[in-house]
Amino acid sequence: MSMENLSVASKGYFGEFGGSFVPEDLQGVLNKLEQQFLKYKDDPEFIEEYNYYLREYIGRENPLTFAENLTKQIGGAKIYLKREDLNHTGAHKINNAIGQILLAKRMGAKRIIAETGAGQHGVATATACAMFDMECIIYMGKLDTERQALNVFRMELLGAKVIPVTKGQGRLKDAVDEALGDLVQNYQNTFYLLGSAVGPHPYPTMVKHFQAIISEESKRQVLEKEGKLPTAVIACAGGGSNAIGAFAHYIDEKNVWLIGVEPAEAPTLTEGVPAVIHGFKCLTLIDEKGEPKPTYSIAAGLDYPGVGPEHSYLKESGRAEYVTATGQEALEAFQLLSKTEGIIPALESSHAVAHAVKLAKELSSDDVLIVNLSGRGDKDVEQVFQMLKQ
Ligand SMILES: *Cc1c(COP(=O)(O)O)cnc(C)c1O
Repeated sequence: MSMENLSVASKGYFGEFGGSFVPEDLQGVLNKLEQQFLKYKDDPEFIEEYNYYLREYIGRENPLTFAENLTKQIGGAKIYLKREDLNHTGAHKINNAIGQILLAKRMGAKRIIAETGAGQHGVATATACAMFDMECIIYMGKLDTERQALNVFRMELLGAKVIPVTKGQGRLKDAVDEALGDLVQNYQNTFYLLGSAVGPHPYPTMVKHFQAIISEESKRQVLEKEGKLPTAVIACAGGGSNAIGAFAHYIDEKNVWLIGVEPAEAPTLTEGVPAVIHGFKCLTLIDEKGEPKPTYSIAAGLDYPGVGPEHSYLKESGRAEYVTATGQEALEAFQLLSKTEGIIPALESSHAVAHAVKLAKELSSDDVLIVNLSGRGDKDVEQVFQMLKQ
């Protein structure tokens, strides 16, 4: 995306982070999107329809499961798992995909576009498009289409058209640029369905709104089960959508400790500096030339050099804490949860489990931890098999 003709929106700031750093023609499209989102988010019919699909299609509410065996084995705080892995398609991403597609429908869009790196957001978007009979175009770096051939096939099965992007390095960033270019050309009938709590305003706010269902449920559930709020809520952070959804209803509960876990191989919040990438300002990993730094995490969904603006603000203001877990620690947590609870977690979620295990040992049995299990690990089983064989 070209950075010429910058026009900065006044809204969508979290402290110094967020905003909208995009060319003027795209800003017009985003202004309309913001206006429609604000109109529909409180509309009783819209809310009723969203709740219908959460219940009947995604399968909410999902449980807050007490991990009793794991808790006994570790000793210390009680560990609860918020089961986003039990959603239709096996992760939290569908909450947002359904919310945004309902908005797209209200706005009269006939065509949905999205970008995807590893393919998980592409699959969630293609699923929602199949359900709502929308044309679906997924931009994906050519290199990524080759590495994730099975996810490309999944999207095609669901009726999507996957367009391999050969420009630039053929990676996620290039796919984002192509998708934004498409949006500017075709905004009259096209909706850009963004997959995480990142990007220019209003996306971070909108994605948080649709993912906040996670903490709306978990708060009610933990009060029912324990009669008190948790000591800490722990979630992995890539772009930050499952984490901001898991935190949302606790942000004003100052006694609840909010902990985001990043891969040690892509420590955006722990080591990043404020910079503008992909049209918004956040803490990000940049090289000497000011370009986003390539990262490598074993969890494809956490492999992003930036992070949502609200997390950047929660970190700088001290309201939330961000820590790292290594790929090796995540791999161990992946196996531990599988053995103790019969739950195979996504490698992304395994980073959060790894930190919960460390923290639980330091706390007492009066403490309660909620770990957001963002997804199931079936998609990662072959990769883990290969890693453990070596
Ligand atoms: C995509 C993904 C993530 C990371 O994305 P966030 O926006 O940080 O939530 C985490 N877990 C799973 C299972 C994912 O698919």
